[in-house]
Amino acid sequence: MATSEELHKRRVEAVARGVGSTIPAYVDRAGGGTITDVDGREWIDFAAGIAVTNVGNSAPRVVEAVRAQVERFTHTCFMVAPYESYVAVCEQLNALTPGGFEKRSALFNSGAEAVENAVKIARHATGRPAVVVFDHAYHGRTNLTMALTAKNMPYKHRFGPFAGEVYRVPMSYPLRDGGLDGATAAARSIEMIEKQVGAENVAALLIEPIQGEGGFVVPAQGFLPALREWATAAGVVFVADEIQTGFCRTGDWFACEHEGVQPDLITLAKGIAGGLPLAAVTGRADLMDAVHVGGLGGTYGGNPIACAAALASMETMRELDLAAAARRIGAVMVERLRVIAAGDPRVAEVRGRGAMLAMEIVVPGTLTPDPAATAAISAACHAAGLLTLTCGTYGNVLRFLPPLVISDDELGRGLDILAAAFG
Ligand SMILES: *Cc1c(COP(=O)(O)O)cnc(C)c1O
Repeated sequence: MATSEELHKRRVEAVARGVGSTIPAYVDRAGGGTITDVDGREWIDFAAGIAVTNVGNSAPRVVEAVRAQVERFTHTCFMVAPYESYVAVCEQLNALTPGGFEKRSALFNSGAEAVENAVKIARHATGRPAVVVFDHAYHGRTNLTMALTAKNMPYKHRFGPFAGEVYRVPMSYPLRDGGLDGATAAARSIEMIEKQVGAENVAALLIEPIQGEGGFVVPAQGFLPALREWATAAGVVFVADEIQTGFCRTGDWFACEHEGVQPDLITLAKGIAGGLPLAAVTGRADLMDAVHVGGLGGTYGGNPIACAAALASMETMRELDLAAAARRIGAVMVERLRVIAAGDPRVAEVRGRGAMLAMEIVVPGTLTPDPAATAAISAACHAAGLLTLTCGTYGNVLRFLPPLVISDDELGRGLDILAAAFG
């Protein structure tokens, strides 16, 4: 078998430079809480393929379901000749997502595609043009979702012009907004919408209940409920982007549940299908069904293999109670992260929920972001056998997203490596 070094040489000659990788190691196999490269080197996995393999890599039920489906049929296109698993995934999403009202779902391939479709549905249903998004938001890399995303480098730089009718307002970011309470922070955002956009022009307010790429920003308590209340009164479709937070990651099935917020539409992807590409928009039946027949779809959306994997993943989440697992993992991690933070003035904050946790790194004694120190700590983790990711508008957030099936031993070893990387 080729070595990681050999494969990297081939990659540089074959793969476009714009597609980056966190580590230059080429995977041979992965499962539980580890990834092993073709040279036999092992990393403890605190990334889960960016919050995708919540049920673990090659989870037994997923492998079985995919194998059985591949043998029956691989693709007919749901828009041409439909099949049961697509319907079953929609039924489950309608039942699992917050909100006791009648719902419908539609399936797509990627998170960005789900977000684009949520905007299409909200615009069509309301007849309004504007979409409101937040500072530090991340919603994808297509033209519309680049416009919805806040950060220029690397996501938007020289990729414009971007889609119009997108308006950005402040996020609740307690570490960096002077600790505004949720209601006050929401009032600030709402005033900006009303003065600069006009509520009657707004189709959708789109928000990540805990921001992902933007820095694992957890809004102050009350922020999301206040926005939800305003959206209802203003006839604005409240869209929760739960692509990174969904499927047990934060200790609930969906992060909105933590404050009892019921979105009108939810976008889902990442953790939905144990690593197979699948995404969804789930929401109020009257909004979802407003769109004419043929107005939504795509060749591969709700592919039968991905649907089989999603059904098996959701079954695994129920069977193993992965929401409880996320809370347990979070409790173990937060305790260790707080010890590290107490001994290192570069750590401005430990935050997150469940198994979606982060440390924000600054110049000691200030709130000045320190992306260089963040990158150095992350690189030390990689060198010592722990796969960590960074994020944040300022590139100064270490984020941790272990698979929810990681063993206590793997979790402990990963945290030991992290502690050592802080030196
Ligand atoms: C990853 C992500 C997306 C985009 O999903 P893709 O599958 O990469 O297109 C959108 N929103 C959030 C919150 C994400 O974390």
